[in-house]
Amino acid sequence: MPKGTLFIVSGPSGSGKDTVLGRLLALHPEVRLSISSITRPMREGEREGEKYHFISREEFEALLAADALLEHNVYLGNYYGTPRRPVEEALAAGRDIILEIDVNGADKVRDLMPEAVSVFIMPPSLAALEQRLSGRGTEDAATVRGRLKEAVGEIARAASYDYIVVNDDLDEAVACMAAVIVGERAKIHKQKYLIDEVLQDVESRNW
Ligand code: ADP
Ligand code: 5GP
Repeated sequence: MPKGTLFIVSGPSGSGKDTVLGRLLALHPEVRLSISSITRPMREGEREGEKYHFISREEFEALLAADALLEHNVYLGNYYGTPRRPVEEALAAGRDIILEIDVNGADKVRDLMPEAVSVFIMPPSLAALEQRLSGRGTEDAATVRGRLKEAVGEIARAASYDYIVVNDDLDEAVACMAAVIVGERAKIHKQKYLIDEVLQDVESRNW
């Protein structure tokens, strides 16, 4: 059995990562989503353990000291980190797993695991990004501005990703994301074992 594929998904805040990934996981429930541990306060509508573990700074620092995080980053004053064990376990069990992390985290994971496949979720324009981020209504105006400022630098680094998925029409973006996942599974380095498997009973054929 081949190992699972590690997918990295990044994109500026408001580009639609959660929306696209939510729909993708409904279509592909076999794919795991890594649950990050973070110190940002919980937003309205968020639930502990669903997308994030909400922990204190002290708890986060204890995870760092125990080397329990695969990578971490500080984003607008809060810690965000990927717990190492669930990722390693999923890959060893042959399951695909997605890390939804920022561009700095993506660089770190690529260094550690060059076989990771990375996808950048691109908004169709800065105007659309601004509209979506303010329209979401989960942050105050100053926080929205801070996130838009971060977005410019993040978009400028999209060229280091393997794929760009433009999230203009949501259905198209989800289909494109699903195509990346399915396409990666079909790659020869994941499927080589099938050659021997299909040929295993060749001796018993009277050809
Ligand atoms: P992110 O996870 O990247 O911060 P979200 O998934 O929370 O972004 O999306 C930000 C806002 O944009 C949400 O209100 C969401 O409903 C909306 N949104 C996401 N994708 C689209 C799309 N293709 N067209 C219009 N609005 C969208
Ligand atoms: P948000 O506060 O909007 O949920 O996330 C802010 C940013 O942090 C997003 O770019 C998101 O992808 C990123 N992020 C979420 N979890 C992690 C993580 O575990 N590690 C890193 N490096 N970034 C993360």
